[in-house]
Amino acid sequence: AARVPTAEGASPAMAQWFALKSAHPDAILFFRMGDFFEMFFADAEAAAEALDIALTYRGEHQGMRVPMCGVPAHSHESYLARLIRRGFRVAIAEQMETPEEAKRRKAAAVRREVVRLVTPGTVTEETLLEASRPAWLLALAPDEGRLGAAWLDLSTGAFETEALALDDLPALLARLEPAEVLAPASLALPGAVETGVPRDGARRLAEAYGVATLEGFGSFSAGEAAAAAMALDYVRATQKGAAGRALPHLTRPVPRGGRGVLQMDAATRRSLEILRSERGNTRDCLLAAVDRTVTAAGARLLADRLGCPLAEPAPIAARHDAVAALLADPALRVRIRAALKGAPDMARALGRLALDRFAPRDLAAIRDGLGRAASIAAALERPEGLAAIPPLLAESARALRPAEDPAPELGRALAETLPARLDDPGIVAPGYDGQLDGLRRLRDDARGAIAALQLDLAQAWGVASLKVRHHQQFGYLAELPPAPAETLLRNPPVKATGDFAPIHRQTMANGVRFTCAALAALDRRLSEAAQEAARREKTIARHLRGLCLSAAPGITAAAEALAEIDLHAAAAELTAGGGWCRPELTERADFCITAGRHPVVAAALARNKGPAFVPNDCDLSPGRRICLLTGPNMAGKSTFLRQNALLVVLAQAGLFVPAESARLGLVDRLFSRVGASDDLAGGRSTFMVEMAETAAILNLAGPRSLVVLDEVGRGTATWDGLAIAWAALEALHDRTRCRTIFATHFHELTALAGKLPEVTPATMRVREWKGEVVFLHAVGPGTAERSWGLHVAKLAGVPRAVLARAAQVLASLEERARGLDPLSDELPLFARPATHASDAHPALDALAALDPDALSPREAQEALYRLKSLL
Ligand code: ADP
Repeated sequence: AARVPTAEGASPAMAQWFALKSAHPDAILFFRMGDFFEMFFADAEAAAEALDIALTYRGEHQGMRVPMCGVPAHSHESYLARLIRRGFRVAIAEQMETPEEAKRRKAAAVRREVVRLVTPGTVTEETLLEASRPAWLLALAPDEGRLGAAWLDLSTGAFETEALALDDLPALLARLEPAEVLAPASLALPGAVETGVPRDGARRLAEAYGVATLEGFGSFSAGEAAAAAMALDYVRATQKGAAGRALPHLTRPVPRGGRGVLQMDAATRRSLEILRSERGNTRDCLLAAVDRTVTAAGARLLADRLGCPLAEPAPIAARHDAVAALLADPALRVRIRAALKGAPDMARALGRLALDRFAPRDLAAIRDGLGRAASIAAALERPEGLAAIPPLLAESARALRPAEDPAPELGRALAETLPARLDDPGIVAPGYDGQLDGLRRLRDDARGAIAALQLDLAQAWGVASLKVRHHQQFGYLAELPPAPAETLLRNPPVKATGDFAPIHRQTMANGVRFTCAALAALDRRLSEAAQEAARREKTIARHLRGLCLSAAPGITAAAEALAEIDLHAAAAELTAGGGWCRPELTERADFCITAGRHPVVAAALARNKGPAFVPNDCDLSPGRRICLLTGPNMAGKSTFLRQNALLVVLAQAGLFVPAESARLGLVDRLFSRVGASDDLAGGRSTFMVEMAETAAILNLAGPRSLVVLDEVGRGTATWDGLAIAWAALEALHDRTRCRTIFATHFHELTALAGKLPEVTPATMRVREWKGEVVFLHAVGPGTAERSWGLHVAKLAGVPRAVLARAAQVLASLEERARGLDPLSDELPLFARPATHASDAHPALDALAALDPDALSPREAQEALYRLKSLL
């Protein structure tokens, strides 16, 4: 094993490194040394690899060479971003004093401190965040066999909690896709940061918000409060100074509760590709296909809504009303969307202001965002094409005008074009602050004086080409070409004396730099004025930050309202494109869709200029609750299954749906088992996973659920598989009684359709043309006659000889199978357990009715003959 270096015998600076590193063992330490952040030892090796930068060595320590790499301080953010994306945490150690200050107090090294711990779940920089997705930090606390969960987005201040069963954790993880998870070691979550669980969570939470009890915020379980306190502790620890004092940027925690929400487990979310595709990209998912929002906050809200659709009629209808209004008044929608486009991200700007990690443009973002909000409020208050504004939009419109509005003052205070950094001059507009204006005048006067001095010096030194220029290091200097400089030094003119006496500063190849008492005095005046002005600008910027923070609740509400309006306008815009309709939501077990489309597949076909998407109906109304779908591979079964589930997600999230019409009974739980279900990392076989997922459905689904299932039983031998599929279908029909689409390769299953009254067979239609198969992608009644597997194999390029041989084998198998009809009721596997007497075989009924003790030998013989005749 490699030897782990210790601090013994280290230089003063390295001793500091060891001390800071031991306080942050699981983070890469960015150790500030002058203009660079340096990394050492194992940190250097990991970072050099992750960042693809050179690894060097610096001296020796305890007989080992010291690996080292570094990144420039001025551009460290981009390196930080790459490390965070690779899952590292980074501790930033800054120099807390200048080398001169260190020397003055006779210290061997400048004092350094870790000022911030950067982790994937606590970043706030624009460059480190995805604009259109939230960055959740999730904390989990065990709570008497259950879990308390709390998640917060430090960049926007959103903060929510939920109490859940242990089994529901995968679903929560799939819904939030947290950037970082905190959990006690006892939960053994891979990848999670291990922390302790505070025992007095509720009290600490109340303290953080300066309230006596949490009751005013809603009701929290002990686990929720503990998890929320854990998250707060962690934020405090990572933000060091900034957030330690107060947490003004976090909203009060909102208990989300699982009620009123459409339940979807992790497998369902993965299978439906809501926020990302099964392959993991964010382009081919539902969110991307339906996202017409024009602001990042709107896109984040849409992601949240699609991840967490509702299951109660009233709030869904309210959202649909908002979409309908913006659909009915296109002029209003266009106006709103134009005002929203390019609107700044106020929530995240406010987050950076609160953490005191802001740039001038964050102040401008609040000014401009509130400006846009006011103009949208005006548009909503006087709509021309609508009789009335629906309540949800009216409520948002009210929130767009916060009672405490810092925008007018920000408008007066901020310069027209702003510098990138807070340290740069030019943040404050002229005319806003008398003192600053005075300092700037002084500075400008001094600049004028320098221009005048250049003329005077040129004359006094007799060098017409003399130029006074500013240098980063030396301030203002007079620059002369080498030859006149030489003359000036050797043979100075009379006037080059006193205040004008040249003082040599620097000789370069193409010139020589001088100063003189007059120039130095001016330079000092100028730099003092500039420094004073910079200090004054900073003071003003802090004052403006204070204004924003004291108005934070109103700004947050306005930002949320903008996102909400963007979301509804985007849904209306999507619908206006044609082919979308408002779903009718009922509280019965309805499910009737005409001409439905899969939003992602349809969009992909359109994008690639492929064949048009074929719309399909789906009717799972009472009396025909189960659709048994057959059809060859590639015919469009999975697309059809997913599309019907996705319509439910869209409708219950508050959007319209891609169909001609849709009448949907509210779904309480949605199950989708379509596509890959491998869990190779989890060490379970495909079949095991499939069975576990099927078990979950059979145990959890109820009469208000919707289940779409593909190929149950495909992962095992034919007879096992068929048997399991058969039993599952029966259970869904008789016990669970949920609406179901059940796709299968087992054509034998369709024989069941006759026995289960609510099962309707359907098939993907194909046409045979000159011996080739053509997929029509249309769902029709009936059952597939053949499976066309060899045709698909041919399409996929399986060699001709193999295909020919397969055709031979198939023929002989079919020949043999003819004598072995799995559907004859002689096979006990498919004799259904009798639920009603009438369903059982008549011979069994007759047998059950016999009482052997009451029969004479003759009657017994007669009964035997009768039973035989019943077979
Ligand atoms: P299966 O599950 O039956 O193997 P898929 O649903 O994966 O088939 O569909 C195969 C391909 O057929 C899809 O990638 C898509 O391009 C196309 N497709 C599916 N459904 C339709 C449809 N309704 N209209 C047009 N093309 C479709």
